[in-house]
Amino acid sequence: MRTLLAGNWKMNGLKGAVGEIRALGRAFADEPPLGDVLICPPATLIAEAARAATGSVIAIGGQDCHPQPAGAFTGDISAEMLRDAGATAVIVGHSERRQFHGESNEIVAAKARAAQRASLYAIVCVGETEAERLAGRALDVVSLQLRESLPAEFGSNEAAVAYEPVWAIGTGRTPTTSEIQQMHAAIRAALGERGPDKANIRILYGGSVKPENAAEILAIPNVDGALVGGASLKAADFLRIVRAAPRR
Ligand code: PEP
Repeated sequence: MRTLLAGNWKMNGLKGAVGEIRALGRAFADEPPLGDVLICPPATLIAEAARAATGSVIAIGGQDCHPQPAGAFTGDISAEMLRDAGATAVIVGHSERRQFHGESNEIVAAKARAAQRASLYAIVCVGETEAERLAGRALDVVSLQLRESLPAEFGSNEAAVAYEPVWAIGTGRTPTTSEIQQMHAAIRAALGERGPDKANIRILYGGSVKPENAAEILAIPNVDGALVGGASLKAADFLRIVRAAPRR
């Protein structure tokens, strides 16, 4: 299984930021990464980012999509539109979408199906809040999110799961190695129970991954890559994270 290092730029980046993708492309031309690399810029930059990534190993993705292919949904963007702009992947169910846009597991599953309809690889995010972890409910919360957000028809070529504890996102705090290992093992077991096509779905860790902690996190069993926010905005930082991924 190849690792996947995915950068989520969130609502950051004007046109000049595409230069970071060109810089990454040059670095990978000199020394190819050991795993897959994906950058998810804001929707306004996807077409330009896809042009900048042409001829490189870098794939471009969206950060969200609407369940419907088209229609009267002001401000929304469909999976087909992302594909048309040059994306090959999309993040669905990021905790910032769940938190600030009220997205339920059912909506996330509908978005994942939209991604599949448009031939986009879906990164389905799950993760507990701090209160849920402190209450000892992290495993239960994540297992329910996983069951309801990842549709039955998805196999390892169509989706990755990103485990992102909400309290670790953008905070500089990370779970311990054994907490990450325990959660990823539980997700792996839950995927395996749902069928052989799901057993090899990549499980990414996300939440304050940085050049300094990437090697340790990426070496944990069942951590098949990372979803990186803040530290993906600068090519130099993200490159160090990509280079920290072990050979698989
Ligand atoms: C994210 O947005 O998915 C994320 C993990 O952010 P950060 O790396 O900044 O914590």
